[in-house]
Amino acid sequence: MTNECKWVLEALEELAVTAVKDGEYWRATYTKEDKESLVLLEKWMKEKGFDTYYDEVGNLFGRIEGNSDEIVLTGSHRDTVKNGGKYDGALGVLAGIELLSTLKNEYGKPEKTMEVVAICEEESSRFLAGYIGSRTITGTLTEEDLKGKDANGISLRAAITESGYYKGKLPEGKKNISQFLELHIEQGAVLENSNMKIGIVTSIVGMIIGTVTFIGEQNHAGTTPMSIRKDPIPVTAKYITLLNEWSDQYFDKLTCTVGDIKVEPGQFNIIADRVKITFDIRSSDNKLLIEAKEYLLALTKQLSGIVKGEVDIACYDQPIYMSAKGIKAMEHIAKAGEYEYLVMSSGAGHDAQNIADYCDTNMIFVPSVKGISHSPEEFTKTEDIEVGLKFMKEYLKKVGWQR
Ligand SMILES: [Zn+2]
Repeated sequence: MTNECKWVLEALEELAVTAVKDGEYWRATYTKEDKESLVLLEKWMKEKGFDTYYDEVGNLFGRIEGNSDEIVLTGSHRDTVKNGGKYDGALGVLAGIELLSTLKNEYGKPEKTMEVVAICEEESSRFLAGYIGSRTITGTLTEEDLKGKDANGISLRAAITESGYYKGKLPEGKKNISQFLELHIEQGAVLENSNMKIGIVTSIVGMIIGTVTFIGEQNHAGTTPMSIRKDPIPVTAKYITLLNEWSDQYFDKLTCTVGDIKVEPGQFNIIADRVKITFDIRSSDNKLLIEAKEYLLALTKQLSGIVKGEVDIACYDQPIYMSAKGIKAMEHIAKAGEYEYLVMSSGAGHDAQNIADYCDTNMIFVPSVKGISHSPEEFTKTEDIEVGLKFMKEYLKKVGWQR
């Protein structure tokens, strides 16, 4: 095993201890667990030759000065979901710390200034505003976002002020970044199923999420004849079937999930008053997402009549594309080094999607066993971490140390 892999594995275990809350992993931002992890991360950064600093929301940066002011930034998020795992986010932060420091030891002062970042609050682990850390890096977090409250009614503004990060004004975007690179576990089983070790990410899927509600008329199950009922349940069942048939025709270009069905009042002897279903449709092809939206609306109209259908689109995010230049450079490294790699899209959201419009952004995936993540079962094999680190090191050397 390489020394780099050994350090990262040991650090993953040590860092995981700081995330244990009530017997499960949960490192929510600005909590005791978060502060303990930051003590460790900052200590490691300093020991390995980085200058460290925080921004106004508590992103922790480690900096290695280069010959130019242009910054190559790498890292990932440090927060975890409730009852999450050890690898999601943490792997990318630790890989950045270890690889930049070993590259400096091996090749001296870099050409570009190299920074690693441990980003806060990617998972909405405490606040719902979403991507607080990466949006601060690009200057898109707003004063309005700071009003958002956690489950205990504490506002984001209060949390970052109390933690000592916020000095009364959100920053503009971080200056001089030319590139961002994030190493992450895949959180799916595409790499594992295809026996590949490296995922070169081309895009992060866009998504449409929301609800469809069919409203009928509540009545007695025994005394209301079938011919005069306004029952939203069979209509909703037909809706789900047709929606799935529509999405099936696109095979693997799109995912469509009805994840929840709520029936009111939901009794065996009452014809339901209303049924609400959720939908989550994702694709890296924006044309398909637009078509999905049109289909949802048309199908709702088609099935409305005896019952009334309503669509509520809660969120529509376009797909985000990674830097073509970075993808090309990665493919070159992968071919030259005979890496088993796959060029692929990410089905999950990442900080990288918020940074992609701001500077050249790329992601590297390593396999997740059985595709499991956001679970204590989350696991990436040692040999896969080793290959991922080797690949990432070659890329960082190319973009940071070569003239
Ligand atoms: Zn993550």
